[in-house]
Amino acid sequence: MIGLLSSFHFKQGFLTDARSETVTTPFGDVRATIGMMGGRETVSIQRYGPNMYTPSHKINHRAHIWAFKMLGVERIISQNAIGSINAMLRPGDIVIPHDFIDHTHARPHSLYDGEESWVRVDMTEPFCPHMRQALTTAARGVSDRVIDRGVFVCFEGPRFETPTEIRMFQLLGGDIVGTPLVPEVVFAREAELCYASISGIINYGAGLSPAVVHVGEGSMFDFYLRSGLQEQIEKATIASLALLPAERTCPCATALDQAFHGTEPAWLKPYRRARVGSA
Ligand SMILES: [Zn+2]
Repeated sequence: MIGLLSSFHFKQGFLTDARSETVTTPFGDVRATIGMMGGRETVSIQRYGPNMYTPSHKINHRAHIWAFKMLGVERIISQNAIGSINAMLRPGDIVIPHDFIDHTHARPHSLYDGEESWVRVDMTEPFCPHMRQALTTAARGVSDRVIDRGVFVCFEGPRFETPTEIRMFQLLGGDIVGTPLVPEVVFAREAELCYASISGIINYGAGLSPAVVHVGEGSMFDFYLRSGLQEQIEKATIASLALLPAERTCPCATALDQAFHGTEPAWLKPYRRARVGSA
C-alpha cells in the first residue's frame, strides 16, 4: 500500500473510490483519505490538515507516520513545495532530494522516547533509493527540468528564512529549503517504511528575490497552481508507482534490525511480527 504525504491539495478525483477515515494512533488522531491511485490502494494524509489550517509548528508528524504504519502502508511518497537556495535551481524545477540538513529545533526527535528502549537508525541514505529512482524516471516523463539529487534543508518555521540564514545554508551545501520534511523522513525510517520526496521549486529563498510571498497573486502558492508544476507533480507521482519493484528489497524494510537499545515497546511488536511473519 502507498502513502501520500502532501502539503498541497491534489486535484479533485486524484484518488478514486476515496473515503475519509479517522485513524487513532499512540500519538493522536489522524484524518486520512483512502482510495485508489494508479491501480494501487493509497492512503493520503495532508500535513496541514484537511483544510490546510494546521500551522507548520503544530503538525503531528509522529501520528502521521504511525497512521500509515497502522493502515499497512509500506512506501510513502512525500510531496514537497520548496524554495531554491542554489543558483542553479529555479522555480518550476523538480528535485528528488538525496540528503537533508536538519535545522529544526522544537520537534519530536523519535517515535521511541519511552523508558524501555530507544533507537538510533542509519541515515547514510536517508531517502529510499528505489523510490528515488522511480520518482526521478517518472518525473522525467513529464518535465525536462528534473534534478535527481539535492540537499534538502529543513527549516523550523513557520516564518520564512532570513537572507543570512539562506547564505548559511548555501555554505553548508544545501540546495533547497522547506519546512515539514524532518522529522517525518526520520520517523518513516524508524517505522521501517520507505520514504522519498518529489519536491517542486516554487520560489527563491530570501535575499535571492525581492520578497518571499506565501499566498495571493504572485505568491508561491499561485506559482504552484498556475505554472503547470502541480500537474507535473501529480502525473509523476502516479507514474512512479508502476516503476516500483513489487517487493521491497531496500534497507528501509529492516532499519530497526540492529538499531534497538533495550526492550522493544509492546505497542510496536504486532507490526514487526507481521513483517517477519513470526509468532
Ligand atoms: Zn525503501
